[in-house]
Amino acid sequence: MSKIIGELYSALRRQFRGDLLRPDDSEYAAARSIWNGMVARRPGLIARCADVADVQLAVRKAAAAAVVTALRCGGHSLAGFSTCDDGLVIDLSRMRAVNVYAQTRCARFEGGSLLGNIDAATQQAGLAFPAGVVSHTGAAGLVLGGGTGWLNRLYGLSCDNVTGFTLVVSDGSVVRASAKENPDLFWALRGGGGNFGVVTEFEVKLHPVSSVLFGAGVCFGDDIPAIVQEWRDFMPQAPDNLRWGISLTMAPHTENIPAHLRGRPAASQGLVWIGDPEKGRSIVDRVLSFCNPAAVTKSELPFLALQTMADAEFPHGRRYYTKSGYFKILGDQEIRRMVEALATIPSPLSQIELSYLGGAAARVPAEETAFGDRSSPFIVNLLGNWADPGDDDANISWIRGLFARLRPSMTPGVYVNFMSGDEQDRVPEAYRERWDRLVEIKTHYDPDNFFRLNQNVRPRKSSRSQ
Ligand SMILES: Cc1cc2nc3c(=O)[nH]c(=O)nc-3n(C[C@H](O)[C@H](O)[C@H](O)COP(=O)(O)OP(=O)(O)OC[C@H]3O[C@@H](n4cnc5c(N)ncnc54)[C@H](O)[C@@H]3O)c2cc1C
Repeated sequence: MSKIIGELYSALRRQFRGDLLRPDDSEYAAARSIWNGMVARRPGLIARCADVADVQLAVRKAAAAAVVTALRCGGHSLAGFSTCDDGLVIDLSRMRAVNVYAQTRCARFEGGSLLGNIDAATQQAGLAFPAGVVSHTGAAGLVLGGGTGWLNRLYGLSCDNVTGFTLVVSDGSVVRASAKENPDLFWALRGGGGNFGVVTEFEVKLHPVSSVLFGAGVCFGDDIPAIVQEWRDFMPQAPDNLRWGISLTMAPHTENIPAHLRGRPAASQGLVWIGDPEKGRSIVDRVLSFCNPAAVTKSELPFLALQTMADAEFPHGRRYYTKSGYFKILGDQEIRRMVEALATIPSPLSQIELSYLGGAAARVPAEETAFGDRSSPFIVNLLGNWADPGDDDANISWIRGLFARLRPSMTPGVYVNFMSGDEQDRVPEAYRERWDRLVEIKTHYDPDNFFRLNQNVRPRKSSRSQ
């Protein structure tokens, strides 16, 4: 243990109520790992906070000693920002309480909550918080970056549904942010990521959703570009109740796929209709009649089943690498490039995820939150997913190569939560006309850039970077 970490440990030990884990503790090995197995770092100390006072203490002592500090909620940062070598991790995994107020359709959840914790509590009242599609993802990182998922075309992004934050800022004090309290900070926290402090509690709006219509189908061969074109042309006029996404990937070796098509390039579609099932059925049927899909399924699903459906596809500890961007217009040439790239995909688990934003999320005025772009509806996410470290180079260069070919037609901008760890130069691009205001607010709340392991907004005059 370095001297500085030894001193930090001594400074925390007497008052800290949670767990302080050092490399020789039995729980350290499990506690140090994050979701992305590509990022294997060894923090000097993990401070698993029991409450807000623990967070304040950890921030005060680490900031005073200038110890590099990472924040962790679910540990799902694709970029691997929720850990560090030799420094401190402020881990909120003991702070996962969720309180639901059914009458007023709102909830409060603590800063370490996973999406699954929130869904389990809100569904007891038949309500839902619009968030992501994998239940083991941390809510804090997701919401602070924006938050897309099945419900955002109908109810907006996750950050659009936050009404208040409680956070510990870099001097260790507790600050509230809402439309009435520190409105600038409230603006910045809705999209600006973990730059401003440790959020210990979120107050959010909920919506009545307890079941959905779900449809799926898989297209092959010439139907792959054809279904992407259908999707591109259909979505701009689609009702907000419909979320239809496509993954270009290899067909899985599962029983529902005809044997001769397993392991072949495929366009896998997932559709969700939220609202009146009668109305939804004809639209889901219509979409699933485009381009002869195989393995078609249609069913009415409990919301919790929908929210956990993809969990096993993205297990902890595999190797992941991503690059993402927006398109205002998705041309046939770009579709062709993506489909061609499928032929050389190094891992059958990797995918090109295509989603369409629009709907309520796009109707929120651009200046209302710090979240990047709402005007380019097509989001393309190149998600590398493989198991063997020996395959790192092949997978990373496949993603970089395809991204370089698509990049000239992309609209400037990127969703910060889909960025990899080697893209700090794209952070201003993510925020563009919101950048200067973010820098002002960062300079006010975190002048020394204590919270810098993130898609970093550097304060004026700070010399500290990662
Ligand atoms: C399997 C998987 C599925 C995903 N699905 C979606 C999806 O459907 N929609 C979507 O929008 N995104 C999705 N993402 C991306 C996701 O939004 C980001 O990876 C996000 O950072 C995860 O949040 P986390 O809390 O687990 O992050 P962590 O790794 O715990 O933290 C990441 C960063 O968030 C910040 N942070 C974390 N906790 C706090 C806190 N309490 N206060 C202040 N800052 C904090 C810090 O800057 C930290 O570096 C997915 C990611 C994965 C791995």
